[in-house]
Amino acid sequence: MTVSTLPPETVWKATLGELEMQMTRATFTTWLQGTRALSFAGDEFVVGVRNDFAKDWLENRLYDLIARTLAGVAERPVTVRFVVWSEEIIAPQTAMVSRNGRAEVVATAPAEVAAGRRDEGARDSTENGLNRRYTFSNFIVGANNRLAYAAALSVAENPGQTYNPLFIYGGVGLGKTHLLHAIGHRCRQDGYRVRYISAETFTNDLVMAIRTKQTPEFRERYRTVDVLLIDDIQFISGKEGTQDEFFHTFDDLHSYGKQVIISSDRSPKSLAALEERLLSRFEWGLTADVQPPDEETRRAILLAKAEDLNCYVPDNVIEFIAHNSRQNIRELEGALNKVMAYANLTSRPIDLELVNMALADTMRRPERISVEQIIDIVCRYYNVTVDALISSSRKSTIAYPRQVAMYLARTETDASLPQIGAQMGPRDHTTVLHGSEKIKTLVDTDPQLRRDLLEIKAMLYERAAVITH
Ligand code: ADP
Ligand code: MG
Repeated sequence: MTVSTLPPETVWKATLGELEMQMTRATFTTWLQGTRALSFAGDEFVVGVRNDFAKDWLENRLYDLIARTLAGVAERPVTVRFVVWSEEIIAPQTAMVSRNGRAEVVATAPAEVAAGRRDEGARDSTENGLNRRYTFSNFIVGANNRLAYAAALSVAENPGQTYNPLFIYGGVGLGKTHLLHAIGHRCRQDGYRVRYISAETFTNDLVMAIRTKQTPEFRERYRTVDVLLIDDIQFISGKEGTQDEFFHTFDDLHSYGKQVIISSDRSPKSLAALEERLLSRFEWGLTADVQPPDEETRRAILLAKAEDLNCYVPDNVIEFIAHNSRQNIRELEGALNKVMAYANLTSRPIDLELVNMALADTMRRPERISVEQIIDIVCRYYNVTVDALISSSRKSTIAYPRQVAMYLARTETDASLPQIGAQMGPRDHTTVLHGSEKIKTLVDTDPQLRRDLLEIKAMLYERAAVITH
């Protein structure tokens, strides 16, 4: 029996055996254990994987390695296709369950999680258009949003009596909608009639009302409230009809002492295409901005969020995410959600290694990896001294690790060839080029080298994560 007539499952088993030798234990168990060969037709080998994360990871990180190893085993070129697969999908009785299960996974797929759009089921449920989660008690106050928070609270406690209108502005994902909903909840609790609406919906409603000749009803809806919350007012920039209607709504409510709260992604002054008369109305009340949170506040937000989700997240992980995430709170939450989803799906504890894996694509690349650190780790890994590594020795036990260091310095840092050369001897930049190219070629044919590189990188990034604190 030639290899190519073996059942796909047998070919895959052998391939897994070889792959296991070429990567760290953690990588193998996380992404490859439990995968199945589903078919091998033509040159296409189909592999069933547990979930979208695994599919994503295997396609983007390990594809070449897997295809190459598989081709070696099958003794012919192959293309690999990964599909999300589970036992249940095959059994019709449980199809519903599995589809539901999968829907959950889809809802927390990396891109969505990264954008903070995690579907939290009941958590995100709304009550008359207000998200239950967006309350004052869930809002973390820091230097970045103190004024906006205080103003929102004051308005919520005494609608129509302090700042009217209240105009809150700031970049995306910084808590404007959260504050508006919090005001809405509080006012409703106190028995006020509240209407929350995005400027976009306001516009669409108006267009529809005009088309169906129901403008009186439209006006009625917006003018018979005690508190009107309009989100993302920038949307009506340049839309004259909407601005006109909003202007009259505003004036009506305001003249009766009703509270109006407006949010915007930029300051009133920067709302270029907004009518002057509207802008001057906005200035009657108070304008408060929300800024990106500092690291301290980011940490507090993460802690609160983890607690809210009833999930223990170690301090060093909280610190790591707070330190490395971009400043937008939606992304911050997204990063935490993604880490939790990874932990769930891979049944691994939440630690720095997991965080590095989960957030590798979305986080700031740790620019703090330096050529020096690479030299250091490579020396430790191959058990040679730094002095020997940068010496002129041509012994292979020293020259080889040196070339590995050159290679990693090029792939893992932004240092130029002359910069790398300066730290490795000094050596000429052509020597660095030659050394790193040699390793690059070897990577294709040498499984032991691939395994070494994975280990070294794991050490490098784990250490980089720890070093920052
Ligand atoms: P914006 O409307 O400014 O784009 P959101 O109000 O939608 O931002 O906030 C994005 C996410 O960040 C929401 O899930 C919100 O609950 C959360 N968030 C924003 N600011 C805070 C804060 N200060 N404390 C806790 N969560 C916050
Ligand atoms: Mg918003």
